[in-house]
Amino acid sequence: MNITRDIFDDVMVPNYAPSAVIPVRGKGSRVWDQKDNEYIDFAGGIAVNCLGHCHPALVEALNEQGQKIWHLSNVMTNEPALRLAKKLVDATFADKVYFANSGAEANEAALKLARRWALENFGEQKSQIISFKQGFHGRTFFTVTVGGQAAYSDGFGPKPGAIEHAIYNDLASLEALISDNTCAVMLEPIQGEGGIIAPTDEFIKGVRALCDKHNALMIFDEVQSGVGRTGHLYAYMGLGVTPDILTTAKALGGGFPIGAMLTTTDIAKHLKVGTHGSTYGGNPLACAVAEAAFDTVNTPEVLSGVAQREALFKTKLAEINAKHNVFSDIRGLGLLVGAELNETYTGRAKDFLNASMEQGLMTLVAGASVIRFAPSLVIPLADIEAGLERFEKAVAAIVNA
Ligand SMILES: *Cc1c(COP(=O)(O)O)cnc(C)c1O
Repeated sequence: MNITRDIFDDVMVPNYAPSAVIPVRGKGSRVWDQKDNEYIDFAGGIAVNCLGHCHPALVEALNEQGQKIWHLSNVMTNEPALRLAKKLVDATFADKVYFANSGAEANEAALKLARRWALENFGEQKSQIISFKQGFHGRTFFTVTVGGQAAYSDGFGPKPGAIEHAIYNDLASLEALISDNTCAVMLEPIQGEGGIIAPTDEFIKGVRALCDKHNALMIFDEVQSGVGRTGHLYAYMGLGVTPDILTTAKALGGGFPIGAMLTTTDIAKHLKVGTHGSTYGGNPLACAVAEAAFDTVNTPEVLSGVAQREALFKTKLAEINAKHNVFSDIRGLGLLVGAELNETYTGRAKDFLNASMEQGLMTLVAGASVIRFAPSLVIPLADIEAGLERFEKAVAAIVNA
């Protein structure tokens, strides 16, 4: 069978509009397509491939577990899941772990747990969930409704209720909504899809204080910011604020689908036997790969290397901007970097992405006017330099068009 991009339009549900390029293999931060064109990868499968493509430690873990046992379901537990859970607990504030298969599923578990915690401790009236405009928490109906873009949750009929949205980095807007009937406040410790918006110190600490005042759970959605992305194992560790529930996915499996929800013993006890579950959650293959990713990322060399790479990205992007005057802001934490287009180029992030592909560079957007870079945490400095040289050519092509 001759596999072409046209087949997508023939046989796939039309909810995506993938690139014309079909990649067939990758190594480190390089990817090759069907025609053997080579790309430098600054997209990382949307902040998933934290160790690049086919990292030897992950390939080895997958091969090794693949010879042992693939799947059991939660009727039985398994060694890779127990090892990974133990490591996550030892490295974070959490005492308990629930495994899922994606970010949305980890968030779904967090929201359901928060509702039960509030119902059993305080009663039915404590059901309000507050999140933030431009926030993103996944595409199940509960999580997409909690997410802060109505465009994503409209058009599917009646929505889950008691969900309200405040404005990120605006504590007063949260204060106006929160009360003793608030069950949880869910937020990203740096907004990813919403445009790479880091929280101010005052805001993030203020959210924690308001949650404490009103006995509401603080849920950190670290699906994008977790597993070394910001240079800390989890972003909360760099913010001086500890959540009650944390969700993690994307980079957790380094490219193998897995998600997890982390919390304390006292909160976790409300998900009693039979209250929630997943057939695949904690699958041995996923947990074996995630354990290898965790062991590789959670080292001083990899975590401190993120800051060095962030600095190189930001310096080089500033140089490109000095030459071509396209950005109004270059921002982000660690290797989640955003370049916001200035007035002249507002709304054209996708054009920059397409122009980059033509130069052999994979990037991302975060909204219509922000170009997002989320490369491997171990991308060689030479690949950053070479990738940004390609990016500059893409920028020049648009500026001179
Ligand atoms: C990607 C993302 C999700 C959704 O994860 P899926 O694995 O696509 O379900 C949720 N929250 C944040 C912050 C994300 O970036």
